[in-house]
Amino acid sequence: MDFNQPVKNIKGIGAKREAILKEHGILAVKDLLNIFPKKYIDRSNFLSVENFDDTEPGTIKAKIEKISSNQFMKGRQSFFTLKANWQDILVNIRIFNQPYLRKILRLNESYYFYGTLKKENGQYKMINPQFVLSRDPASFFEFEPVYPLISCLPSKSLARMIREILSHDLWVPADLPKKIRDDNQLCTKAEAYRKIHLPKNFNDAEIGIQRFKFDEALKINMGIFQSRNLNQISDVELSYFNGLDIFLNSLPFELTLSQDRIIREITAEMKSKSVINRLIQGDVGSGKTVIAVAIACLLAQNGYQIAYMAPTEILARQHYQTFCNFLKNSGISISLLTGSVKESEKKSILKALAEGEISIIIGTHALIQEHVDYYNLGLIITDEQHRFGVRQKGQLFLKGKNPHTLVMSATPIPRTLALILYGDLTLSVVNDKPAGRKAIKTHCYNEKKLPQIYEFVKEEIKKGNQAYVICPFVEFSENMENISDIATVYENLKSDFEPQIKVGYLHGKMSAEDKTNSITSFRDGKISVLVATSIIEVGIDVANANTIVILNAERFGLAQLHQLRGRVGRGESQSWCFLVTNATNEDTIERMRIIVNHHEGSEIAEADLKLRGPGDYFGYKQHGLPQMQFLDPITDLSIIEETKKTAQLLLASGEQEMMICADDILHSFYESVNEIALN
Ligand code: ADP
Ligand code: MG
Repeated sequence: MDFNQPVKNIKGIGAKREAILKEHGILAVKDLLNIFPKKYIDRSNFLSVENFDDTEPGTIKAKIEKISSNQFMKGRQSFFTLKANWQDILVNIRIFNQPYLRKILRLNESYYFYGTLKKENGQYKMINPQFVLSRDPASFFEFEPVYPLISCLPSKSLARMIREILSHDLWVPADLPKKIRDDNQLCTKAEAYRKIHLPKNFNDAEIGIQRFKFDEALKINMGIFQSRNLNQISDVELSYFNGLDIFLNSLPFELTLSQDRIIREITAEMKSKSVINRLIQGDVGSGKTVIAVAIACLLAQNGYQIAYMAPTEILARQHYQTFCNFLKNSGISISLLTGSVKESEKKSILKALAEGEISIIIGTHALIQEHVDYYNLGLIITDEQHRFGVRQKGQLFLKGKNPHTLVMSATPIPRTLALILYGDLTLSVVNDKPAGRKAIKTHCYNEKKLPQIYEFVKEEIKKGNQAYVICPFVEFSENMENISDIATVYENLKSDFEPQIKVGYLHGKMSAEDKTNSITSFRDGKISVLVATSIIEVGIDVANANTIVILNAERFGLAQLHQLRGRVGRGESQSWCFLVTNATNEDTIERMRIIVNHHEGSEIAEADLKLRGPGDYFGYKQHGLPQMQFLDPITDLSIIEETKKTAQLLLASGEQEMMICADDILHSFYESVNEIALN
């Protein structure tokens, strides 16, 4: 049977079924085959009396010694009970709402019962098991795939259709060439479908799953390689290094060991002329920016341009400020280019950029627009890269001649995922913090405590510190009555704190100008309390702020809470974080507990991953990468690394079979990436 045949050619699929399938985008044989079992039922899993897991179903062989009459409960519910002898243990088997089974089950006969066995108060119980007469087991012990529900199509119907397809020979186009399969000990794709849909046992299914994992990893690697320049030699040539030392010596603080190490590593790599692709990952407040400034300084002093692309205008402005401060005596020209820069000003910036008069340009997406030309772009720095799609990265890359790339990220991601997301990026971890930083004292309180918390805030401000108050929403909304909003909180705080203490606010709905004014007033100390949404979550750096109050803390995820808390603890004074919530559900309590007790981003990420599961945690869609059905980014690291070689082999090969296969894989990569872009 051909992979691409329409489903109506399958025996048993009439017009009605065809229509249902079509609604779900299932048009061809391959679409059906690509619905994978979500689990398998293995009735050959026999339970043992000494040792059974009461969460996993299994089979027991037991002889029925007693059948009760059918009893009715409230409503239309009914049940009857069997007493069955399992190795001299009496098991109570209760069968609900199927009175007709009383006539089918026979006294003094042995059956295989498949279900979840529980032991409660010394009594063994099983509810609604599947069963078969022990002398007539027939297909009872066959491994059975369970499919996800598609509309009104039960798993069993899907299984039947797929079984029908696989009863024929299957032809799958553009399979991996034999050499690649042999080298990696993989079965053919047709075999993989057979193994995954009709396995004899778990090991069998695993053979299929391994093949699909390999394909998935290969697809991601090929997509990444393809969208990246494979030329590893940089056109950027450096000859002057003294300026970097002068810059580093001018800093008002000692570099941390990590900062020093990473700056040196990057410089050494640049000397060797290879194109640098580095992910600089460090917890909030670990001091990543100085690394970027140092490397930018080095490039600028060697006559190259540097583009720093930030995800938001606020951050772009802040980085601009930081760069200007650090480099104020260096003579390096720095400009800011964002969407809200005036047209006339923009024109002159673009001109200066194209003519090479600007060395460092900092901005938002404005930096990658078509009409932005660079004189000689040598380094691209992107911030919190996960907010940019795969494509946008490529666009900036094309504006230079093999420029270097540095990616700054505070999101602790396992090495595996870093590889998937960034392909051949080298990972540099900033794993220490500037000296003298104290752990942020974190407490979780009920809203009733707010007056006391605000009194505390006032005291801190009297000592010369500043504070953030975070609300989930900007405006009051009727159906969110109990959720804090900026407008209300701002008004309340104003009447409580002013005139002695000035209060300001910051949220995403303000104009760029108002936002800048707010953040500048806060930075300059004209405002002492900033009421804000999670807009301040990434990157805002005001070392004098030492207290953050997070209202309705239950509304924020773990990573977000950690990022928010990271806005304080940036100076040397003791910092405080108050999580305020009335929620009492377990999930919230657990999250608050994690934030209160853990201070390392990596620990919080790990806990978050456990709570949410990999799919949700990594937000594949947000990363602009295809969802992984088979790969587990935590445990499948080796597969992802192994497939890199194969990806390169396929892309470089001139052999026809290899090329066809490569085209097919790239096609499906771009298809999945496009799908995501449309969402
Ligand atoms: P992040 O890693 O979150 O981007 P930043 O680069 O914004 O952190 O640094 C946080 C604060 O620490 C900034 O105010 C920065 O100037 C300061 N800082 C950076 N490195 C050091 C250091 N080695 N010693 C003291 N303070 C430092
Ligand atoms: Mg930062």
